[in-house]
Formats: sequence, C-alpha cells, structure tokens
Amino acid sequence: MREELRRIEPTDFPIGTTPTCINALTSRMMGNLRHRPCGSSFLCCPSCRFSGRTIQIFGEFMQLTSTGPFHDDEYAESFISDCFGWHLSDHQKISQVLCPDCVTATDPRRCMLTLSMSMMRLPYIMCITLNTSKFNINHTLTYLSDDMDVIYNLRGIVYGDGNHFVSHLITDDGKIWYHDGITTRSHCLPEGQLEDIPDSEWLRTSSQGYSQRRAILAVYIRN
Ligand SMILES: [Zn+2]
Repeated sequence: MREELRRIEPTDFPIGTTPTCINALTSRMMGNLRHRPCGSSFLCCPSCRFSGRTIQIFGEFMQLTSTGPFHDDEYAESFISDCFGWHLSDHQKISQVLCPDCVTATDPRRCMLTLSMSMMRLPYIMCITLNTSKFNINHTLTYLSDDMDVIYNLRGIVYGDGNHFVSHLITDDGKIWYHDGITTRSHCLPEGQLEDIPDSEWLRTSSQGYSQRRAILAVYIRN
C-alpha cells in the first residue's frame, strides 16, 4: 500500500522509516474536488449582516486544531460536537467579537458577532482528524435542520503514536472491533458493545498493541 501511495505523491507518502502524515492521507482519500466544501460555520452580525471570519469548513475531511465553538481554545478539552456548534442555543452562539460595522449601536449586544451556519449539502461520511489530545469523541453527532435532525454515528477511530496506526471499527449494531495491521493482520478482534462501556476514555486512547496510542481520526457515517 505504501508503495502505491508513494507513486501518487512521494512527498506526502514516503516509504521506509519516515511516517506518513494522516492528514495528507485522509485528505487525499476523502477529498472531493468537485463537491467540497459542504458548508461552513462563520461569525455574522445579526444586526447588519456583516460576515466575519470562517470558523469551520464542513466536508468529508476536516481537521480540528482548537477547542470550543469559536475555535479559540476557550476550553481545555472539547467534544467534537462543541467544535461543530451544531446544537448551540441562541445565547451560546454569541461570540466575544464586536461587529466592526455597528460598534456605535446603543445596545452593545447587537454589536456581538454570532455563530452562523451555512450548509449546501450534508456529507454522507465525515473523517475528522484530531491534531491534539484536547478532543473528546462523541458517539453521535446531530445536525439540527429545519426539516429533520440528521444523525451521524461513530463508525471508526484511528489511533497513532507517530509510527503505527491501529483502529477501532464500530458496526451498525454497536459492536466494537479492534484492528492492528501488524498483530491482527487481516482480522478484527471483537472488543465489546458500544453502549455497554460506561467510560468513554477508551475512545481517546488505545492501550492495545505495543504502546498507548491516542485517537487521531474519527469517522462518522450519516444515518
Ligand atoms: Zn453589525
């Protein structure tokens, strides 16, 4: 597989002891140049409609680097759902950023930019790379739309330590399977049932294999 990847892009996918970058690999696998992005969250003034900075671009491939709905590292740790901001109340959507176009308004609340969402389509699959250990993984993500809520179920987690990847796969019926290309090879080992494991800590780290590895990629599939 690595030889195949190297033929495609030798810089991103080297062979030998140089590790492959999972961001580059996932982006290459999931990138859909014709259709992306699916949408975005951004800051917007509810009074004058001034449009501020983009917070998150949604698509088949996403990278999370900062915590909180405004991606300002407000929290020491964040769930993926916090970073998406899909289910915030109107109050929670208010940022600390003043609108530059209505700073003279008499009501200061009108001057705060709020988190807004624009979705052109909802992806069928979302692969989210987690660049630090600050992120917690949700079992499900729910997009609240006007017509009906759209649910994304966790279907896989990849763990890495810079040298080797292992993974958990979660099937439709909630069964958790473990895979390690070195030790389990082409097989997956059953580990339990998603709803029977009360502690979500296992989602963040995999202690199986040679060393403890942290979650670096979560995969969700739309219901
Ligand atoms: Zn404004």
